[in-house]
Amino acid sequence: MNLLLLQIGVFIFGAIIGSFLNVVILRYGVKSLRGRSKCPVCGKKLKWFELIPIFSFLFFKGKCRNCQRKISWQYPMIETITGLLFLLIFNFSSFAESYGGQAFSVFSSQFLELIFLWLIFSLLIVIFVYDLYHKIIPDAFVFAFAGLSLARVMIDFNGFSWTADIWAGPILAIPFALLWLSSGGRWLGLGDAKLILGIGWFLGLAKGSSALILAIWAGALTGLILVALSRFLEKKQLFFKNKNFTIKSKLPFAPFLILGTALVFFFGWDVWGLSLIL
Ligand SMILES: [Zn+2]
Repeated sequence: MNLLLLQIGVFIFGAIIGSFLNVVILRYGVKSLRGRSKCPVCGKKLKWFELIPIFSFLFFKGKCRNCQRKISWQYPMIETITGLLFLLIFNFSSFAESYGGQAFSVFSSQFLELIFLWLIFSLLIVIFVYDLYHKIIPDAFVFAFAGLSLARVMIDFNGFSWTADIWAGPILAIPFALLWLSSGGRWLGLGDAKLILGIGWFLGLAKGSSALILAIWAGALTGLILVALSRFLEKKQLFFKNKNFTIKSKLPFAPFLILGTALVFFFGWDVWGLSLIL
């Protein structure tokens, strides 16, 4: 099989997984994952051709075929992002490198690593969007992420060191758990500390702390911009009733943590030059 064809296949597979992640985000804690998808407005069950990732949204111009109400652009966006991310991981993994047009083995360690990364980033997408909406990180997702990250280092893909790799998670997470305890949960949630535990295991100490620094910078900068923006809008009398952007409200931290993790993972950003030492 041609590599380009395989890459197109990987993108389509990612988009299908993205469509499933949409369902997980929407239904988690609300109802069962089983059952056909329905239009949230008129309740009409969707046909198979209305459930094709990205394509159906574009073809029906983002409207329900029955009631003509607009469908959230969140659906095709998450499908597209998941598709692109799956493709990026595929190209990034040693699997694509080892693939030379010949029959490939699904029992190779490269393929196992690919599956791990796809699963890990699928969970990160779910946590990202769920925290953005609900300002909470469900334990099921964050523990699955931490567990997979720990399992991945223990299986040993690229040389595994017991001391650094096992301790990286707790070393990075404990300060944030203490911060949660001492602030009574006002500065960050315990879910954030659990996420950081997984990030430590996923990236190791040097890269993990780089991801944390990036997340803190990006979060602080975004917070400042939102506060400045809300002051500005207040003065201009344009600020509506909802005071979402005041300094008191807690900004969800997980999206920043996940963005930092992705940047460090894919681009190897090392804020401190720590990887030279550790
Ligand atoms: Zn409808």
